[in-house]
Amino acid sequence: MPEMPEIQAHAERLTDDFGGTVLERFQPLSFTALKTAAPSPEEAAGHPLADVGRRGKHLLLRFEPVTFVVHLMQGGRLRPDPKQAARPRGGQARWRFADGRALLLTEAGTERRAGVWVVAGDPLTQPPLDELGPEADALDRTTLGRLLAEHPMRLHGWLRDQRVVAGLGRRLANEVCHRAKLSPFASTAKLDDGAVDRLHAAIDECLAESLAVERTRSDMSSSKERPGAVHHRTGEPCPVCGDTDRAVEYRSYTVNYCPTCQTGGKVLADNTTSRFLK
Ligand SMILES: [Zn+2]
Repeated sequence: MPEMPEIQAHAERLTDDFGGTVLERFQPLSFTALKTAAPSPEEAAGHPLADVGRRGKHLLLRFEPVTFVVHLMQGGRLRPDPKQAARPRGGQARWRFADGRALLLTEAGTERRAGVWVVAGDPLTQPPLDELGPEADALDRTTLGRLLAEHPMRLHGWLRDQRVVAGLGRRLANEVCHRAKLSPFASTAKLDDGAVDRLHAAIDECLAESLAVERTRSDMSSSKERPGAVHHRTGEPCPVCGDTDRAVEYRSYTVNYCPTCQTGGKVLADNTTSRFLK
């Protein structure tokens, strides 16, 4: 799933390309795309796109009367739509502008989880954004320490929980744990001050590095094209210590880590394998 750096860089590109352009109309292309009944998306027609912002992993297309909150989920993409086909593949919704251009929301696969919320007033205080935790790149050291203690969880899951901290996903959770030299399964309530210091620095560094890379691209890159030390690198040597990167597999995602850097050399039981051994 696209995380904060990909979404932020994409929001900046969309603002550069479409900011100030007047909306002609919003057109839902599937029954599941529009998640709100009111206000009507038609309220934005005739108004210029003020800008495209971001909150967590959501894109915010801001028009003066209403904001479109777009969640891409796993397979969603929001891209310029030069063809404007009647039934585009995976098409969910289209914003057609008065200058003849359009933006198209598509979703690959059959899950149909990407969506558009239309909200009037401050979008940050309404669903789906009102339950998000603070932005990951805006956390000071004190707030981070407090949130870790207040929400005792395994670190990898904590980093991915959007209600605690917004913007990180599976890839950055893997990279942040590795950078901080912490086990992905460490209990957040038991981290000492040194660990919280390292975690704070790791979140800042990993986000800043990823954002710098995404800003050099012309579209959202795929996960495998992004730089990293452990994510999607099972069996490869750790760039820090040379040990072999390992994985703990879950049904829908993989936790990657380096034993020497993160778990005192201990190889963690692979979920998939250990289930068969029981
Ligand atoms: Zn290592």
